[in-house]
Amino acid sequence: MVVIVGTGVAGLSAAVSLRRNGYKVRLITKKITGGSTYIAKGGAAASLTGDDSPELHAQDTIKVGDGMCDLKAVNYVTKEAPSAIHELEKWGFQFDPDLRLEGGHSRRRVAHKTDETGREFYEFLMSEAKKEEIPILEDRVKALMVKDNEVRGVITEGSAIEDDKVVLATGGYAYLFKFSSTQPTNVGDGMAIAFDAGALLGDMEFVQFHPTVTSIDGEVFLLTETLRGEGAVLVNDKGERFAFTYDKRGELAPRDVLSRAIYDQYSKGYKVFMDLRGIKDLERKFPVLISFLRRHNKTPSDLLDVFPGAHFVDGGVRVNTRGETNLKGLYAIGEVSDSGLHGANRLASNSLIEGLVFGMNLYRYIDKWEGFYPDDGTMVSVTEWKGRKASIDEIREMNWSNVGIVRNKERLEKAIAYYKEVDTSSSCEESKASLISYLTAYSALMRDESRGNHFREDFPFHKKEWEGKRIYFRLTR
Ligand code: FAD
Repeated sequence: MVVIVGTGVAGLSAAVSLRRNGYKVRLITKKITGGSTYIAKGGAAASLTGDDSPELHAQDTIKVGDGMCDLKAVNYVTKEAPSAIHELEKWGFQFDPDLRLEGGHSRRRVAHKTDETGREFYEFLMSEAKKEEIPILEDRVKALMVKDNEVRGVITEGSAIEDDKVVLATGGYAYLFKFSSTQPTNVGDGMAIAFDAGALLGDMEFVQFHPTVTSIDGEVFLLTETLRGEGAVLVNDKGERFAFTYDKRGELAPRDVLSRAIYDQYSKGYKVFMDLRGIKDLERKFPVLISFLRRHNKTPSDLLDVFPGAHFVDGGVRVNTRGETNLKGLYAIGEVSDSGLHGANRLASNSLIEGLVFGMNLYRYIDKWEGFYPDDGTMVSVTEWKGRKASIDEIREMNWSNVGIVRNKERLEKAIAYYKEVDTSSSCEESKASLISYLTAYSALMRDESRGNHFREDFPFHKKEWEGKRIYFRLTR
């Protein structure tokens, strides 16, 4: 029996594919409808047309990854992506016929279904898992069971489950920032429990912020790039269209540039809104946005509050292209993992496809353990410590103000000092979230340069010596 933790695209696709290849599996998830997949929008990138190729997809991925991509992972995912899409279609999933073009892609290669592809993946894969009668337990995994240096099962809030192998598919930790586009399940505790058992975490400083998130009556909604591509503009409460003062591309500047521009407007005391009135045929092109507006008694003529929110994390449990960690019996796939695919910044729509490729292909490797220990970085040893408790809300506030979009030495040291007083050693969510936040701040302080989505205002440039060099953490007891 293989135990898979998480019911996002990675966990569900792994469960269905392993089952269909003869393995017994079970799924455990903190919340059935938790995770980013459930609310993901755009689509999944794959080279699917005659004018495209895995090599072009790889080139685009590497460019955005800003000197930090693991080429093995990039070549693997871009090569396997078309087969993963076709396999999903064989299972019965129907994509819309057109492919979309998104920022950073040199070809139309974003396969999608409506403008809620993540939710569509989730619904489809969940129904396939149910057809296969895969048992699904709703519970939080709080530790791994390790016997004779091998991971053999999980300990949940309610039980201890000894199984054969463990696959972590627990997503990232973007919710650990006050403003975020993801769900409260994603606080990085999957990474922390792997770390606790001896797995290596890497690339923790690379957190991607999406520039345009909105929230009405507590419902958080991502306003996709396509809206700006189609004519939506950003204004502040003085009515100024400010984006051009930061970048000549205005609202079409890259995610990180626009996130910093909006953050700066807020820092200066302005509010920021998206004006949708310039979009032609909005109702037909963006039906999901229209229903969001209707749910909250808004019309497309209303200005929408926008803020940049933590959206995705590039780092996590370091794995090879088979999803293997440095700990025998432990696999990590999807956003919880650090395969090196995204490097210092993720190319749009490369995450759902990463989850699908690693999930669907896992059956090929699950009985052929090779193991993995990276040699492309610097290793930092960390000891957990006991201290006072911090709530998730306090952690989110601390990270937003000090480990967020614009970082500097002073703020990062403040966060590190704060986490040094907070308990990181217990198995509760808050404690694990503190540890993950500490490691994020620590690696952001170490990386005294700006690269990809990691921006240091005190070092606003690349440093050659950091190119391709990862920061890894391991636990010492
Ligand atoms: P998730 O989907 O995040 O699932 C994590 C799972 O783990 C959940 O089921 C959760 O309940 C469970 N879990 C967590 N901790 C525990 C625990 N301790 N014990 C038990 N269970 C646990 N990417 C793209 O490629 N294209 C897009 O268009 C796109 N749009 C996005 C839009 C939004 C609003 C957001 C937030 C993200 C978007 N992304 C997109 C990113 C992408 O959705 C995620 O990276 C991807 O869905 C992650 O999938 P996953 O299976 O790894 O994890």
